[in-house]
Amino acid sequence: MAFFDSHLHIVRLPEPLEVARELHERGYRYRAVACEPWEWNALQELWEKASAEGWQEGCGLAFGIHPMIATDIANKHQDYSSEDCWSELRRLLEKFPEAQVGEAGLDKRYAGYEPGGAQEAAFRKQVKLAFELGRDLQIHCVGDYGRIVNILKEVGLPRPIFHRFGGDAGIVKAGKPLGALFSIHADSLRKKATREALGLIPQANLLFETDADETFCESCGLSTATPPACTPQQIADALVDRLNQVQNSF
Ligand SMILES: [Zn+2]
Repeated sequence: MAFFDSHLHIVRLPEPLEVARELHERGYRYRAVACEPWEWNALQELWEKASAEGWQEGCGLAFGIHPMIATDIANKHQDYSSEDCWSELRRLLEKFPEAQVGEAGLDKRYAGYEPGGAQEAAFRKQVKLAFELGRDLQIHCVGDYGRIVNILKEVGLPRPIFHRFGGDAGIVKAGKPLGALFSIHADSLRKKATREALGLIPQANLLFETDADETFCESCGLSTATPPACTPQQIADALVDRLNQVQNSF
């Protein structure tokens, strides 16, 4: 069976290069997403090593700025003081012409969510960048999907991919004419309004994802002890199971 995980934070998993090998052997393909500067660097390094072995075949990349760090980047806080994140993001996207932009968006749990705030500014910049470079845009939204759709219409229209989709029927209807893809995560099936909207999405516009990151081992009952007691083989098997569950419950 062929697998495609449309949103995987592979470098946040333990031993990512070994995980890449295990996934390749299982025929598990994925979109590797990196959404803050340290993750971009780690992913670039992993990609180069995995490519030398052929383990990245059939897989893809995405580089972006997550709403959780939009305020820090705007204020040049912490890790973001010494580098120009935006020029680095553009450089990476130019270096990897197949890479998508994102994940980018709005998240009400983090600073800068208000209309006109730092999250919106960072999102607008990435919509523009994706549109200019002709890339798909991975969108993260916890909160107001309507605002996301309005910004897309205003700023430019890269193809939107609603990652870990949690919107309702109204958003599916608004997204369809934009050519949107909807990426389904186990969480998408939990919310009643989202579950009911899924039937409106044409098969060709559906993707599936695990969004696995540093919390994955724990959430699967695999260990997070250091060094991790879960092996790259166990992680790869757990990813296959997780993605299968989402696809099969659909
Ligand atoms: Zn993500």
